[in-house]
Amino acid sequence: MDEETFYRVQELRKNKRRPTRTGKSNMFSGVVRCADCGEKLYYCTSKNFETRQDHFICSTTRRRGSETCTSHFIRAVVLEEGTLRHMQLVISCIASHEDAFRKALGAKRNAEVRKELAAKRRMLQKSDNRLAELDRLFKRIYEDMVGGKLSEARFQMLADDYEKEQAELREKIDILEDEIQRQEDQTENVDKFIRQAKKYLHLEKLTPAVLNDLVKAVYVHAPDNSSGRRVQDVEISYNYIGILPATLLYDLKNGKTA
Ligand SMILES: [Zn+2]
Repeated sequence: MDEETFYRVQELRKNKRRPTRTGKSNMFSGVVRCADCGEKLYYCTSKNFETRQDHFICSTTRRRGSETCTSHFIRAVVLEEGTLRHMQLVISCIASHEDAFRKALGAKRNAEVRKELAAKRRMLQKSDNRLAELDRLFKRIYEDMVGGKLSEARFQMLADDYEKEQAELREKIDILEDEIQRQEDQTENVDKFIRQAKKYLHLEKLTPAVLNDLVKAVYVHAPDNSSGRRVQDVEISYNYIGILPATLLYDLKNGKTA
């Protein structure tokens, strides 16, 4: 068994992919989806074993006819070539414009993130401390009122102030916690993706292994024939970071977003 076949078998097991009647399977089965109905595209092999004609169609069309969803026909070789080119573009962006790539994805440099997060955590700690202090102050004025050292009216006024401040602090704490979490997740995800992508700096051939490592899903749009020729959009959703439009990647390469 050569390496390619080995990977295909592994992939097949992993995704419980059923081979077609001709016994062939495709690494995009289970990964490629219809951009309009969201269902998986179904792999069809040509009867005469002519691999270049192997293609995918929307499984909704296949089950319920083209009134429910159009076929979204795409040849497997076209899908493979297009995905490989997109992946090569992403990898070359990371190789030569890593900082700009991070920035475009909303993730900052690690040093920047660490500094910002440290400042936010200090702010969070200060707010937490003040919240605890307000609790103590409240207890004290309550005791003062019960002990007759503080009028009820004065107590009520102070209590209202404390309560208002506490509510504002809680809101601030919530926002800070949320921001910290999101920033940590974002940076971590972009880091993970960059690490994976850097394993394939000289990617020349698409294999199930690299597809699996980098790509979560591929969305195929219905062809647009309005220009007189068939134009078909394909969007690639990468692991950890989601869809990367080719226009963004070209801008990165041309230094437009730096
Ligand atoms: Zn569909």
